[in-house]
Amino acid sequence: MFVLVLNAGSSSLKFNLFDMANETSIAEGIAERIGLAEANLACSIAGEKRKEALSLPSHREALQAILDRLHANVLHDTPIHAVGHRVVHGGPKYGDSVLVTNEVLQDIDHFAMYAPLHNPANALGIRTAMAAFPDVPHVAVFDTAFHHHIPDHARTYGIPYEMSQKYGIRRYGFHGTSHAFVAARTAILLCRPLRSLKVITCHIGNGTSICAVGQGKSMDTSMGMTPLQGVIMGTRCGTIDPSVVEMLMEYEHLDYEGITNLLNKKSGLLGISGVSSDFREIELAADGGNDRARLARDLLTYNVRQYIGAYATVLDGVDAITFTAGIGTHSTFVRAKVCSKLGFLGVKLDPEANEHGTGERIISTPDSRVVVTVVPTNEELMIARETVR
Ligand code: ADP
Repeated sequence: MFVLVLNAGSSSLKFNLFDMANETSIAEGIAERIGLAEANLACSIAGEKRKEALSLPSHREALQAILDRLHANVLHDTPIHAVGHRVVHGGPKYGDSVLVTNEVLQDIDHFAMYAPLHNPANALGIRTAMAAFPDVPHVAVFDTAFHHHIPDHARTYGIPYEMSQKYGIRRYGFHGTSHAFVAARTAILLCRPLRSLKVITCHIGNGTSICAVGQGKSMDTSMGMTPLQGVIMGTRCGTIDPSVVEMLMEYEHLDYEGITNLLNKKSGLLGISGVSSDFREIELAADGGNDRARLARDLLTYNVRQYIGAYATVLDGVDAITFTAGIGTHSTFVRAKVCSKLGFLGVKLDPEANEHGTGERIISTPDSRVVVTVVPTNEELMIARETVR
């Protein structure tokens, strides 16, 4: 069974084609700058990489260009059997993946009220793919679904209750497919059933979120109604005092769009360091003595540590801490720094395993009470599995 996984952004379309007979990715890539000058399509098909400059006026042309290359190189006459779509926000309604219908599409449009930067692009991607493949099932897999059942006390904000009810204002949480995937892999690494484990999963990438996983379920997570809350991120501010918003709007003469742009695109690691949102550049600048880059790096590791401490109490203990995503998987410094003050929980990092291994592995010592793991995430495979299910 061939499953095409699509992740549509406002000017990009990521794809991954899986042969689900053995769960292998046989082609992947991304069309970028859709609707803009100098659009391009980068593909890795059957191990061969290439990047082409193309004219891609809309997502329709981008999808067609992707399909042309898939059919010419790997699929030939074999059809695609189903399409799985990443959708950021499922609102209060969707606690599981669903077959896309008109009603589902309308809901995804509606939940743009919570994810204005993501849901419209996701819906556009689905409509484009449904026009190209009208006869195959399309499945929406929501970033929020894994957190759907977090307890009321973990998802309620301290605003008048009627308003929370009226507008669906509450913590939803994101990166759900990633947290679910790495928690399940951690259980496999520990040779124990996931339902018997207390795991804290740390997805640290451009976007960062931490999740308390108990009995295989999300019990709490650091992102909120939108992906702006929680740990500081590449360009997002993370949790701040809401009064900062009022003050900046007044003194910097910012309207709604201005403040949204500042908090989502100009804050976080980029805003603090003034160097970059890319953590590799922050590390280089920090090691070179740049104080603001050091501050940004320290704040990231401090925030992650704060959540781990908090979630150890949420779960009433912790068996495993898992690092994933670009920074979590690759930065030995971040993992070491985060774990350096977790000795009281029984965390003992193995410096050798932290520095030198690659891929999925245990990086704590054999006598560490809490097992620390690195698990590269695979959200696309998770979406393909959900589509099959
Ligand atoms: P996204 O949230 O966009 O999926 P990723 O999970 O790919 O992001 O993470 C991107 C981040 O990972 C960037 O800040 C990048 O600098 C960082 N990163 C990637 N490789 C390394 C590395 N070897 N060392 C430190 N940071 C890295």
